[in-house]
Amino acid sequence: MVRLRRESKPVLLENKSKWSSGAKKVWLGGNYPVVVQSMTTTDTADADKTLEQIYGLAAAGCEVVRVTVKDAPDAAGMPAIVSRSPVPIVADIHFDHKMALAALEAGVAKLRLNPGNITDRTKTREVVQLAKDMGTPIRIGVNMGSLAHDLEKQYGHTPEAMVRSALRHVEILEELGHTDIVISLKAHDVPTTVYAYRLADQMLAERRTPYALHLGITEAGLPREGTIKSSIGLGILLWEGIGDTLRCSLAADPIEEVPVCWGILKALQIREKGFDITACPSCGRAEIEVVDLARSVEAIAKEYEAPVKVAVMGCVVNGPGESKMADVGVAGGKGKGAIYRKGTLVGTFPEAELLGALRIEIEKVIADVYPDFIGETAHGKALATSAS
Ligand code: SF4
Repeated sequence: MVRLRRESKPVLLENKSKWSSGAKKVWLGGNYPVVVQSMTTTDTADADKTLEQIYGLAAAGCEVVRVTVKDAPDAAGMPAIVSRSPVPIVADIHFDHKMALAALEAGVAKLRLNPGNITDRTKTREVVQLAKDMGTPIRIGVNMGSLAHDLEKQYGHTPEAMVRSALRHVEILEELGHTDIVISLKAHDVPTTVYAYRLADQMLAERRTPYALHLGITEAGLPREGTIKSSIGLGILLWEGIGDTLRCSLAADPIEEVPVCWGILKALQIREKGFDITACPSCGRAEIEVVDLARSVEAIAKEYEAPVKVAVMGCVVNGPGESKMADVGVAGGKGKGAIYRKGTLVGTFPEAELLGALRIEIEKVIADVYPDFIGETAHGKALATSAS
């Protein structure tokens, strides 16, 4: 299956503190993988607490983390955050150009800044020039609540008003010679978000400036509703090849956002990370607690990075057939369970031994099918491997 991806201009996200040489670098856009992002909820001024959350996000699979820099105490926390972060840090700036300068000097990998919001053009020029000199990309982020007033009057709360507002900020950066640009157009509902990004894709292509797009639905809601909205809205766009990075904004601990982003990418087969677990819905034929078994498999999955496909079936009626598509299948029987490898029976095991046997089979699959992931756990290489 061929999925075409929108052309976009790649930008490099790299922490530039002299102490941050160990941090990952991330390319965003072009043919690089779609990047998973989130944002801290801690007080940026408390660098240790913020770093604790950044490490938690990174361990969950978050590849870029944004932190707000709203005042001088926040700015004072930035050098420590940037120098010790394991992933690129983006500074979220609103109106105060001094915060932008401080974040740049701390070595952030990217600024999120709408240059038109800094009313004094001399100050805008100062920020953009420093960003340009340091090779720091800028994301322009327009939400339905931050439209240019005249465009809001002319176009109302529409995708067109969002895109035209974003392009105004783009023009300011372009005039100042800074074209390492990323754009986001977040609305709080799915249809507006989808239309806004599609329109942006079209208008950017027409003006031959295919800047990278950061996808998101703003204030998507509590985890259940936010996951649904993000999956549908961002899923439609990603399937159409639109989008270079995504954030699933949830009213929850930001660490909860990361598996949602990965779930969307995995479901669309855009990126692989960790297990792909399918489970039957269970029915009157079930001879094992399918949900409990699937949750146990999910717990095992958290320990691995390899993209092992596991099918969990409640009975042996469909178990062998369904598990043909999976690397490993497990099906319930009366007081026991059967394990399959690509649909071929490996053996039957008493229920008490089933998970242990499944883990052994999973390890064999990783060795045979995903050798690059041998010793790779969700928290990095296993000690035995990293010591060698
Ligand atoms: S696999 Fe068995 S238990 Fe699960 S839904 Fe199908 S028939 Fe029912």
